[in-house]
Amino acid sequence: MSRPQKNLQESLPGIDRIVQKFWPEIRKQGFLLAVSSFGLVVEIVAQLLEPWPLKFIFDHIIVADARAISLQIPMLKGANPMVLLTVFTLAIVGATALRAAAAYIGLVGMSLAATRIVTDIRAKLYAHIQRLSLSFHNQAKSGDLITRVTSDTDRLREVMVTAALPLLVNSLTLVGMVGVMFWLNWELALIGITIFPLFLISTVRITKRIHSLARQQRKREGAMAATAAEAIGAIEVVQALSLEGMLESRFSRQNQKSLEEGARTQQLSAGLQRTIELLVAIATALVLWRGVQLVLQKAATPGDLLVFITYLKTAFKPTRQLAKYTAQIAKAIACGERIIDLLDTVPDIQDLRGAIEAPPFQGAVRFCNVSFAYNPAKGILQNLNFEVQPGQRVALVGPSGGGKSTLVSLLLRLYDPLEGQILIDEHDLREYKLESLRRQISIVLQDSVLFATTVRDNIAYGSLGATDPQIFAAARLANAHDFIMALPQGYDTILGERGATLSGGQRQRIAIARAAVRKAPIVILDEPTVGLDNENEQAVTEALERLTQNCTTFLITHDLTTSQQADQILYIEGGKILERGTHSELMSLGGRYTTLYQLQVIIDSDRSNQEGSYVLKA
Ligand code: ADP
Repeated sequence: MSRPQKNLQESLPGIDRIVQKFWPEIRKQGFLLAVSSFGLVVEIVAQLLEPWPLKFIFDHIIVADARAISLQIPMLKGANPMVLLTVFTLAIVGATALRAAAAYIGLVGMSLAATRIVTDIRAKLYAHIQRLSLSFHNQAKSGDLITRVTSDTDRLREVMVTAALPLLVNSLTLVGMVGVMFWLNWELALIGITIFPLFLISTVRITKRIHSLARQQRKREGAMAATAAEAIGAIEVVQALSLEGMLESRFSRQNQKSLEEGARTQQLSAGLQRTIELLVAIATALVLWRGVQLVLQKAATPGDLLVFITYLKTAFKPTRQLAKYTAQIAKAIACGERIIDLLDTVPDIQDLRGAIEAPPFQGAVRFCNVSFAYNPAKGILQNLNFEVQPGQRVALVGPSGGGKSTLVSLLLRLYDPLEGQILIDEHDLREYKLESLRRQISIVLQDSVLFATTVRDNIAYGSLGATDPQIFAAARLANAHDFIMALPQGYDTILGERGATLSGGQRQRIAIARAAVRKAPIVILDEPTVGLDNENEQAVTEALERLTQNCTTFLITHDLTTSQQADQILYIEGGKILERGTHSELMSLGGRYTTLYQLQVIIDSDRSNQEGSYVLKA
């Protein structure tokens, strides 16, 4: 209540904003919209004509002496009453048939146009969400985003057809009817519209409240979807930690609130409808009271009165519907606004103006004074400087949270540095189109994400358009071909969501095949062997060896035995490179790397002794 005027004022520009934003999509359906609009206009005219045959029957046939004051139609003078009756009764059927046909064309055309428009909007929204930067996605809730793509867009379509369209037709009919009423008898017309101000006051007041409730409810539905998606996405953890009860009660609190808001909206809307019905009854009574007097004074005909009463009843249909559909339209506006807010979010990372296709990289990488922070309050990487020659292997080591993954995500341009430059072959990353930059970098993560599609597609996602021989070669390189062939449908086996039907090592090998098919000169490996058993680790390590042959490789690892083979080791802690060099250089330095290494040797030998054998690879 602190913003009394805001809701209604907001709702109208809301429609304007939605139309403006989606004008290109709407314009594309111009022809369909024009045809259906024509249908609507014919429907409105037919509706205005509907009571007229009845008026003529009253004035010309039943009450014959009213002809003197009735609308004079020369053709009708002296005509046989039975012929007239036949003509007028046929006209009643004709007007209704015309209205039905026109309404059909209007409705079908509009539905089709609305479906096409919303399909386009949905595609645009989905494409946009996928391109939004990680800095956005880190904050956003995936369930809420999904609601916007699926149900928010659908509500727009539904409302266009089931609420906005009838409302438009009826509002125009109302204007037409008021015009005809004034033309027939201004005094009765004035009486008829006296209830308008009352109607406006009650509608505006209640609509405002419905609108804000609808918005709140929509937001809550988004939050509910987010809670559910989060829990279902992490169901393993939820069950392992026995969080079901807590999450259920959080969900049910939101669910309950949403229900209450929904019920309140319905209640307000139902109340408004009843108020309007009462107002219409009052208007009809007033018109009848004065109308009959006019008829008796021969200042109007019974047919005129008939047209008036019919019009009053029909004319207030749109107002009744306005009340009925207010909630729906307000909701749709809120949905539209949510969609637009998302579309208006500009990706932080996008092609700069004048960005060019990256040429095939040699693979030289240089970080010059690079600093970065996820949020300005907390710096993560501080003034990093290092250089990597083409084909070199760089190991990034150091304690967790030091900034290793952040460093490689800058190389992929998932984020831009706050200061400094990252150069590939002596050119700033930002000079290149994102897609052409990322196409030349392969990545294998600790827990590789596979998609719920065939093994073949999962590998081909590394390089869209890869042929079967390329896919098979990549799978062989990744030590994956044999186990794939042993799957029930080989390469056509459909994987469970996130590759859940495979073992960790198998998932990693498919991810390596996906990286291999890309044939990228730069490879990023983020602890790819962590959590694998010995046998799988060996197969994966072998595959990685082959994958990284002749590639500039960044390997994030906690296993300092693997980092020994690196051409260069960066020891990163607290967002800084504290030590840099080859294994022997760093060992002779006797600093943190040496300490970490010695610690690991002790831990590994302890573990091996427990297992009864000494398998330190060093
Ligand atoms: P490492 O890979 O060395 O373990 P990370 O690069 O993952 O380290 O993390 C470095 C720091 O950045 C940590 O303090 C971590 O909390 C923070 N961080 C990582 N990712 C994000 C993110 N998406 N948003 C905010 N902070 C993050």
